Amino acid sequence: MRLLIAMMKHETNTFSPVPTPLQRFGHGPGPLYGEAAVHAYRGTGSGLGAYLDLAEREGAEIVLPIAAGASPSRPVEDAAYEHIAGIICDAVAKGGFDGILLDLHGAMVTESVEDGEGELLRRIRALDPTTPIAVAYDMHANLYPAMIENATVVAGYRTYPHIDTYDTARRAGEILLAAMRGQVRPVMAWGNVPMLPHVMRQGSDDHPNRELQARVAAMSAEGALAATLFTGFPHADITNAGLSAVVVTDGDRALAERLRDELLDRAWAEREAFVYRQEPLEQSLARAKAIDPPQPGEGPIVLLDHYDNCASGGTMDTTAVLAAILREGLDNVAAFAIYDPAAVSQAIAAGIGAEIALAIGGRMAMPAIPGESRPLTVTGTVKTISNGRFRNKGPMGRGVLTDMGPSVVIDTGMVEIALISRHVEPSDLNCFYALGIDPMQKRFLMLKSRIHWRAGLGNVAKAVVECAGMGVCTSDYGQLSFTKVRRPIFPLDLPNR
Ligand SMILES: [Zn+2]
Repeated sequence: MRLLIAMMKHETNTFSPVPTPLQRFGHGPGPLYGEAAVHAYRGTGSGLGAYLDLAEREGAEIVLPIAAGASPSRPVEDAAYEHIAGIICDAVAKGGFDGILLDLHGAMVTESVEDGEGELLRRIRALDPTTPIAVAYDMHANLYPAMIENATVVAGYRTYPHIDTYDTARRAGEILLAAMRGQVRPVMAWGNVPMLPHVMRQGSDDHPNRELQARVAAMSAEGALAATLFTGFPHADITNAGLSAVVVTDGDRALAERLRDELLDRAWAEREAFVYRQEPLEQSLARAKAIDPPQPGEGPIVLLDHYDNCASGGTMDTTAVLAAILREGLDNVAAFAIYDPAAVSQAIAAGIGAEIALAIGGRMAMPAIPGESRPLTVTGTVKTISNGRFRNKGPMGRGVLTDMGPSVVIDTGMVEIALISRHVEPSDLNCFYALGIDPMQKRFLMLKSRIHWRAGLGNVAKAVVECAGMGVCTSDYGQLSFTKVRRPIFPLDLPNR
């Protein structure tokens, strides 16, 4: 047996100013190819890790031409897309595969196309009309017809934070292997409803996604080989942004359609519960200060700077929440993180223990939202200098190498501020430990994150206070100009009053 395995992942925030060249695709300088990709992902809790395990179990010969994944940002540069898709298609064109296993995100927009994954699959099918294809997608996929019609089986994450990336790819891969053996004949039904669930309301530990995902899982006992409810990625002004579902059955199209319709109907009925409401920042910080400090054994109080989540396309360099924390005099705080390679270089040049005044953040203009993000001047000691690399502790992406780039910690005496050179969301505890910060000893943690922080810290945090800051992940849809998404769509045009 010969299997083609590849990864191409990007969640595109069309409002983000952060560029997406080829160099962004990879934990390090660009994508990984061939043996280097196999080495990086074998044995990890990732989608590729699952595909590699399955291939090994089957004694299959593996061809892994490219593993390319980038943190969310603006539309992918055409040259980067053509490079990645071209390498996958070149491998397909050589032929001789029994199956193709793809680890994709499902919300990739390029400078030229709205549906990067559908375009890739269309190209693959044009070269090879028959080899079965399995695709694992992120829960934040925005589905297009070509993403389904050009695949044999599709499965998506059921958890947010995404702690089931491995399980999802394994599910897709097992169904594909069964189809290759002639044991099942997958048919798929997909559809969407006109709603943009807010990312802050999409957590799978919270109502309503908790109940929806439980129903998805239960469908396997009713004949679904794989059922997926995609909450979608709303910070994308593209035709098909929003919630969708796909159900795979063994040859029973009517069943697939019935289960799909049930999922879409249930989600639509819960649309109001997917709307997020935000309080003013001053109010949030006052609430945070009023919470009793953590007692021994209790974890920190999390201050969520969620308007600037880099894993949703944020610049990670806005300073509104950090400035308010400093102004309000909150003590024993760690802040993760401000993306500012230039400030990192200055701190490294100053050296460990040096007292410095640094202007941090506010370097990247954000034309898609009102207001101006300004640099913040902080004074403190250089506490840590690090290469910024660590392997994830898990449960999210266990064992996968994460690269923050050269990184430093500036200690103001009250706040330890992490400065990093590559965009990394604080979803793993090791992002703190790698920088010499013990998050369990802090009263407050400021995190530029929305839901993924829960993977590492959700079960230890004493409390969480969501803080409205500044950034392209703004919770105020009114700040964003949607011109391409299909209309009408809830909640932009269809208020549920
Ligand atoms: Zn996601």
